[in-house]
Amino acid sequence: MAELWKPDDSLDLYGINRWGRDYFSVNRKGHLVLRPNLTGQNFVDVREIIDTLVERGLQTPVLLRFPQLIEDRIVRLYNAFEKAKKEYGYKGHLRAVFPLKVNQEKEVIEDIVEYGDPFDYGLEVGSKPELIAALALKKNDRAILVCNGFKDYSFVELACYGSLYRKNIILVIDKLDEVPMIIDAIKATGARPMIGIRMKLAARGGGKWVESGGERAKFGLSVPAILEAIAQLRKAKLLPLVKMLHFHIGSQITDIKRIINGLREAARLYAEIVKLKVPLKYIDVGGGMAIDYDGSQSTSSTSCNYDMEEYASSVMYTIMSICDDEGVPHPDIITEAGRGISAYHSMLVARVMEKPALSVDPSAIDVETSDPLPIHELHQSLREIGPKNYIEEYHDALVHRDDLMSLFNLGQIDIKTRAKGELLFREVCRRCLKFVRREEDLEEFEEELTDLKRLLGHKWVVNFSLFQSTPDVWGVKQLFPVVPIQRLDEEPKETGTICDLTCDSDGEIKKFIDHRNVKDVLELHAPGDDPYYLAFMLLGAYQDVLANAHNLYGPPDEAFITIKKDGSWETDKIVRGRNAEEMLATMNWDAKELVTSIEKLVLEQGTGEGDRGREFLRRYRRTLSGTVYLIPEGSNGAGNL
Ligand code: PLP
Repeated sequence: MAELWKPDDSLDLYGINRWGRDYFSVNRKGHLVLRPNLTGQNFVDVREIIDTLVERGLQTPVLLRFPQLIEDRIVRLYNAFEKAKKEYGYKGHLRAVFPLKVNQEKEVIEDIVEYGDPFDYGLEVGSKPELIAALALKKNDRAILVCNGFKDYSFVELACYGSLYRKNIILVIDKLDEVPMIIDAIKATGARPMIGIRMKLAARGGGKWVESGGERAKFGLSVPAILEAIAQLRKAKLLPLVKMLHFHIGSQITDIKRIINGLREAARLYAEIVKLKVPLKYIDVGGGMAIDYDGSQSTSSTSCNYDMEEYASSVMYTIMSICDDEGVPHPDIITEAGRGISAYHSMLVARVMEKPALSVDPSAIDVETSDPLPIHELHQSLREIGPKNYIEEYHDALVHRDDLMSLFNLGQIDIKTRAKGELLFREVCRRCLKFVRREEDLEEFEEELTDLKRLLGHKWVVNFSLFQSTPDVWGVKQLFPVVPIQRLDEEPKETGTICDLTCDSDGEIKKFIDHRNVKDVLELHAPGDDPYYLAFMLLGAYQDVLANAHNLYGPPDEAFITIKKDGSWETDKIVRGRNAEEMLATMNWDAKELVTSIEKLVLEQGTGEGDRGREFLRRYRRTLSGTVYLIPEGSNGAGNL
C-alpha cells in the first residue's frame, strides 16, 4: 500500500544504496540527495538544485557536475595506495595520472589539475589535441605527463619541446616504427624526455573492452619488438632515458583476478628488462579500475568484484612480490585509472514529457450480450480476480486476448469491440500486478511477471538524447542507473522504458540495472501536474566525448555545483549547451544564409494577412537561437539563459 512506502524502499528499488552508497541517498521529502565525500552529512537536494536553476532561467535537460566527487575519488585513490604501501612495506610511490580520453572538457580537467595538485597527480594524453591542451595547463613539475597513442613526427617533436619546459614527460613507444622517429626528434630538439615502452599483454581483461588486451591488442609491442626497441635505443645512446614499462589491460575490468594476472605478466617483464640494464623506474599499470554501475559487486559487465582499496592492495602486492622474487627494486607505480576517478561526478537531469494519462474506469465499459465470448470472459475475470487466483486469471486473459485478435483478423469483430477487449485485458493485467506481493509468488511467477511488466510498460518520452548524453547505452549496451529525483517516498506504480527525442528506435533505454538481474522496465511514478525529472547517473567517464549529435541534438547546458560544509550549495560555473544555430553550423549550415532564404521566400510570396511573413521570420530567428530540446508548455522563451 502506498502509505507504507518509505524512502528506504526507493533506495533499494533503484539500487541507490548499492551503486551510490557513499555519495547518494534519499531525504525525507523523497528527493534524491548527494554529498561530496564521506566526512560530512552535508547532503544537497538534487530537486532543489534543479528548481533553483530553472527559476534562474536554465532549461532542462541539464548536466549537473559535482567536481568535489572527483576530488574525493583522487583522495581515496592516494589513501588506498598509501595504506597498501604501509601494510606491505612497498618502497616505491604512487604516481597517478588522469587519462584525458575519459573526459577532456576544459573545466573538468582544470578542476582535476587543481584538486590533484597536492598529490602531484598527472595527466595522460593519447592524441595531438590532448597533448596541446595538457602542455598549456597549470605546471607542476612533479606531476607526470604520459604521452600514449599512435604518433607522428609532429606529436613526438611537440612532446620533446614540451619536455624542455616541463619535467616528467614520458613519451611512450606504442609501435616499433615510432622508435626511429623518437630518436630523430630527441636529437633534433636536444630534449631529454623520459621514454616508456608499451607492452602487449598476453593476458586478456575480459568484459566489454576485452579487445584492448591480449596478443591481438591494437597497441603495444610484443616481447621480441620490445627487445628490438631496446637495441635501437641502446645504439642511439638513449637507453638512460628509458624509464617506464606500460600496459593497459582494458577498461572496466570486472574481475580482480584478471587484473592480477595482467600485473603478474607485466611485473615479470619489468624485472627481466631491468636485468638487461635498462634503467626502468616506473611501471604504468594503465586504466581499467571498474565502477560498480549496478551495485551488484559481481563480475557482470556493469559491475566489479572489488573496490578501490582492494585494487590498490592487489596492484602493490603483486608487483612487490614479483620484484622481491626477482631481486629488483620496487618501481614507482603509475595508474591511469580514469573511469574510477570521474564517473561519479556528473548526472543528466531531464524531464519526462508525459501528461497524466486518461484513466479508463473499467466499470464504465459496457459489455453487451452481443459481444463475443472473450470479452465476456475478460469482464468476468475482472470481477473474480483476487490474491488466490490471479496467476490463473492472468494465463486465461492471455488466451482471451489471443482469441480476440484472431476474431479481429478474421473480420468477425469491429474496431470498437477490439478496443473494448484491449481495455479489459490491460485492466486484468494491472490487477494481477497489484496482487504479486509475496516472495513465494515472485519466484513462482517470475517469468510472467517480467512479461506483465513489459506488457503494461509505458514508453516514457524524456527530454534528452540518448546519443548525446548516454552514448555508451547505444554503443556498447552499457547500463547506467536511472532514478527519479523526486517522489521517492511514494511507491512507483507504473513501469516502462525510456524513449529519447531522436527519431531512432535505438534511442530507447530498454534495460535497467538491478541487483539480481537486468530489468526490462523501470518503475516510475504516474505523471502528475508537477514536473517529473529523471537523473541519469554516473555519466562522468567517456560520455561527454563519445556523444554524437543525432538529429542535431547537441550538448545540453551544464552547471558545476559546489557543496559547502553547511550543506548549502552554489553554482560555480555554467557551461552553455549548443543552440539550434550552433548545432546547424556543425554541419556547415550558416545561420545568415538560412535567414536570408526565409526572407527571400517571404518577399517573393508577400507577407500576407496579419503580417504573417514577419511573424514567420521572427519565429524562425527565435527558434534558431533557442534550445534544440523541447520547451515544456508553460515555460517562456526559447530555452536560453
Ligand atoms: N589508459 C589507456 C591507455 C587507455 O586506453 C584507457 C582507456 O581505455 C585508460 C587508461 C583509462 O581506462 P579506465 O577509464 O578504464 O580506467
